[in-house]
Amino acid sequence: MPVINSIAAMEPEMRAWRQWLHRNPELQFDLPKTAGFVAGKLREFGIEEIHEGIAETGIVAIIEGQGEGPTIGLRADMDALPIEEASGVAHASETPGKMHACGHDGHTTMLLGAAKYLAETRNFKGRVALLFQPAEEGGGGADVMVKEGVMDRFDIAEVYGIHNAPNFAEGEFFTAPGPIMAAVDTFHIDITGRGGHGAMPHDTKDPVVAALGIGQAIQTIVSRNHYALDELVVSLTQIHTGTADNIIPGTAYLEGTVRTFDPKVQDMVERRLKQIVAGQAASYDVEATCRYERGYPATVNDAEKAAFAARVAADVVGEAHVTPETGKEMGAEDFSYMLQARPGAYLFLGAGEGPVLHHPEYDFNDAIAPLGASFFARVVETAQPL
Ligand SMILES: [Zn+2]
Ligand SMILES: [Zn+2]
Repeated sequence: MPVINSIAAMEPEMRAWRQWLHRNPELQFDLPKTAGFVAGKLREFGIEEIHEGIAETGIVAIIEGQGEGPTIGLRADMDALPIEEASGVAHASETPGKMHACGHDGHTTMLLGAAKYLAETRNFKGRVALLFQPAEEGGGGADVMVKEGVMDRFDIAEVYGIHNAPNFAEGEFFTAPGPIMAAVDTFHIDITGRGGHGAMPHDTKDPVVAALGIGQAIQTIVSRNHYALDELVVSLTQIHTGTADNIIPGTAYLEGTVRTFDPKVQDMVERRLKQIVAGQAASYDVEATCRYERGYPATVNDAEKAAFAARVAADVVGEAHVTPETGKEMGAEDFSYMLQARPGAYLFLGAGEGPVLHHPEYDFNDAIAPLGASFFARVVETAQPL
């Protein structure tokens, strides 16, 4: 059972939607044109129940099947990134400083394609909840939708989401029966010493040397405090201080990212960071504080739903083109909040060779859109056949 024929025939239409979305990127929760476009298409498809303004600009639309059954949630993210596009394509961003560099224009298109097909055919029992979310790229739009009660209000039983994956084999699906993407946390360290003349350090409390000490010492969290076979990244990514060669500054600021899969590891890193910062501050005779900010949790698939999703993907692209137990990624994804609320699965859809996500030359590969749309449609038809 390959790509659904009527969806394959929709390819030029889907390409046009996707390229319109690409030309009109919007950020975070501020998606008036994008959400307006999506709602307009859903109305065109004859979908009657469309709820706009969820999580500000998110949309939940319900497609009724034939007969009683549970509700399946299918999710797409709609937001772009604050990047100046350099793709050179004819449909490039028309808004300076904003671009669809993560392919959410493609994800929105795939879900619209599935919506059109499902609304026309209704070859399933129960209902489909189409979840179009804002603010995946920071802001946690999925979290806001869950907190606004979307799962209970629409009685959603399970959820599925797809992300395109450049440099994974084009048209192949990848998923995992458990954790698939990491949790992302941020740490902020403020150091306050006493500034002075670069030639007279004895009159100062140098925050630069303290920053170097802290930067070195936190490397031991991964190498000395953490079990070697578990996943953990601690990256110090920013150090800001100083103005001139002959001035010892009064303060320094450090920031970095932590990627984990296990909440116990998160707790350990937070505890050790604070201990190290306090200890190093004492040893260098400066004041220092560490603020640890938890971001998106790990994206954890339900094992059964992931196996089901892999079988559905195999129906669409053939078993040889599905990897049901792919490796974990240290990136993060706010679909994790939906997966905390309901069982489901997140999949990568290979986009073939090209610039990576968040690169200014990236452009979504339109050739894979019918595959993603067919997957979404088959999930519903397979889970809840007539
Ligand atoms: Zn992204
Ligand atoms: Zn993305």
